[in-house]
Amino acid sequence: MPSPPDDCLFCSIVRQGTYVRKANGFVAIEDINPHAEVHLLIIPERHVDSFREISEFPAREAKRMLEFVADTARQAGLTDYRVQVNVGASAGQTVFHLHWHVLGGRTSADMPTKTETAVEVM
Ligand code: 5GP
Ligand code: ZN
Repeated sequence: MPSPPDDCLFCSIVRQGTYVRKANGFVAIEDINPHAEVHLLIIPERHVDSFREISEFPAREAKRMLEFVADTARQAGLTDYRVQVNVGASAGQTVFHLHWHVLGGRTSADMPTKTETAVEVM
């Protein structure tokens, strides 16, 4: 199996340990640019570039990853939510380390903008 690139952002986030949840080789972090009220990213500690390489995960590990996605959503208080994986640059993938988006609550289209929520001080 090829080694991960030295400059992989999500490998370095996994190493730094700045996540909201961790178990069994997977971490959950908050997306830095949320598209919904709850926008979490589920990242396997094992580096694969994208969902295309899903077969590099043994079956039991792949199952545990899906369970971690569902458990993380549940622990975030979500019953209804979207799970999204962008595969390849033209499908919107910008970080080439497999990750699952968990999106719940109001989407960014329904959320007030920073200007709308700003408190008037004068
Ligand atoms: P993609 O576009 O590859 O499907 O998803 C990558 C996600 O990673 C984007 O939603 C983006 O906002 C998020 N992201 C990019 N850089 C960082 C970072 O440094 N920290 C966190 N928490 N999220 C990031
Ligand atoms: Zn990586």
